[in-house]
Amino acid sequence: MKSVSFKPVVALVGRANVGKSTLFNRLTRSRAALVANFPGLTRDRHYGEGRVGERPYIVVDTGGFEPVAKTGMLLEMARQTQQAIAEADVVVFLVDAREGVNALDLEIAQLLRKLGQKVLLAVNKAEGMRYEAGGAEFHELGLGQPYLISASHGDGVEELINLALEQVPSPDSDSEGQDDEEFQHRIKLAIVGRPNVGKSTLINTLVGEDRVIAFDQPGTTRDAIEIEFERNGVEYTLIDTAGLRKRGKVFEAVEKFSVIKTLQAIEACNVVLLMIDAHTEISDQDASIAGFVVETGRALVVGINKWDGLDEYQREWIKREFDRKLRFLSFAKMHTLSALKGQGINPLLKSVNAAHAAAFAKLSTPKLTRVMQEAVEQQQPPRKGIFRPKLRYAHQGGMNPPIVVIHGNALDAISDSYRRYLETRFREAFKLEGTPLRIEFKSSK
Ligand code: GDP
Ligand code: GDP
Repeated sequence: MKSVSFKPVVALVGRANVGKSTLFNRLTRSRAALVANFPGLTRDRHYGEGRVGERPYIVVDTGGFEPVAKTGMLLEMARQTQQAIAEADVVVFLVDAREGVNALDLEIAQLLRKLGQKVLLAVNKAEGMRYEAGGAEFHELGLGQPYLISASHGDGVEELINLALEQVPSPDSDSEGQDDEEFQHRIKLAIVGRPNVGKSTLINTLVGEDRVIAFDQPGTTRDAIEIEFERNGVEYTLIDTAGLRKRGKVFEAVEKFSVIKTLQAIEACNVVLLMIDAHTEISDQDASIAGFVVETGRALVVGINKWDGLDEYQREWIKREFDRKLRFLSFAKMHTLSALKGQGINPLLKSVNAAHAAAFAKLSTPKLTRVMQEAVEQQQPPRKGIFRPKLRYAHQGGMNPPIVVIHGNALDAISDSYRRYLETRFREAFKLEGTPLRIEFKSSK
C-alpha cells in the first residue's frame, strides 16, 4: 500500500454577496472557455482548480451561510459545507469592506475559531480603500490580520492565495516526479460518485473485501491511499475517496462521503469512473463533480449502477435524465452495470483502458496536420468580418488530456462550433474516446 500527496484545498467561506463566486471565478478563470468547449456545462460550479506559480490547488466555494431563525446557523449549515471547512487545508473567510462587520460575520467567525482551522480573513470589495478606512474594524472578528482585496478587480488576490498556501506544507518533491512516469503504464483509477451509488460495492467486487477493510483506515495526513489490483492482465491503482479521515477538532466523525476527498482523488488519478445511481435523480452535486472532472481534463467513464431489476421505463428515464443534465459529458463512454451482481464490469474496464490510452495517445504532427487539412477542405472556417482564419499546421501540445495546437493566421476568428467540428474530426481520426481533447490556436499575426 502506498500513498500519494493530494493537492491542497482552499475553501471560500462567507455569507451571501460578499463576493465568493467572483473570487472563485477569478481563481479558476477557465470558466468562459470551458462553457464553450462543453455545451451544457452551464451550471454554477463550486469546485475548481487554481494555480499560483507552479503550485496547483483546489478551490471550493462553500456557497452561502444563511442563518435560519430559531434553529441557529450551526444546525442548519449544510453538512457538506461543515465538512468542507473541516477538511480544507486552509479557509479564506470573506467579508464585505463596504458593509462592515455584521452579526452573521461574527457568527461565522466564532464557528471558524471553534473549528481551529487555518483561516485568512479577506476584506473584499476594498478596491481603492486604505487599510485604516476599510480593514481595521475587522480585527473585531478575532481572526488575525484582515487582508484587503478586490475580487472583481483582482487587487491583493494573488498575495492572499500565496499567504494561504504558505500555511500548507509542500509535498515531497520526489514523489511527484515518480507519479508522472507511473501514469504511463499503470492506470490510476478514481471511483467517484454520491453516497450510496455503489462505489464500495464495486471496489469490493474489483479488489476483494479484506483488502478494502485494510485500506479503510483513519489517517491524519493529506495523503491518499492507493490500492493496486490486476484484472484481465491490466494493472490498476485505485485511489481511495472515502477511507481517509482527518481527525478534526470538532468534526471527529466526518461522514463516509467527502466532496473534498472526491476532488483530490480526481486530481490524483488519470481515469475517473463516475458512478450514477439508476434509481435516483441526477443532482446538482453530481453535475458539479462532473464539471470538476471536465475542468481537470481527466479521462472519464460513466457507470450507471444498480441496473439489475429495473424495468424498461426506469431504464429510459435515467438515460433521459443523463442526457438532460450531464450532456456535456458526451465525450465519455457510458455503461450500465450492477456492482452488486458483478454484471457489466468487464466492458466497463475495457472503456477505462481505452480512455487511459486515449488520454496518453501520441498524435504525430504529419497525421494531425493531414486530418486538419482534410477537415478544412470539407468545410472552411467561416469568415468573421474581413478575417478568414487560415489553418496551417497542427502538432501535439500535451497529454492527459491531449492538446492539439493549431498554427495559422486570424485564428481568433474561429467560432466555437468550428472548434467542435475540428475536435470531432480529430477524435474520429485518432479514436480518442473517453478523454477531453483541448484545441489551442496560435496565430502568427
Ligand atoms: P457570493 O454570494 O458571496 O458568491 O457573492 P458574488 O460573487 O455573487 O458577489 C456579490 C456581488 O458583489 C456581485 O454584484 C459582485 O459583482 C460584487 N462584487 C464581488 N466582488 C467585488 C469587488 O471586489 N468589488 C466590488 N465593488 N464588488 C464586488
Ligand atoms: P457507496 O456509498 O457509493 O460506497 O455505496 P455502497 O457500495 O455502500 O452501496 C450502497 C447501497 O447500494 C448498498 O445497500 C448496496 O448493496 C447497494 N448497491 C450497490 N450496488 C448495487 C447494484 O448494482 N444493484 C443494487 N440493486 N444495489 C446495489
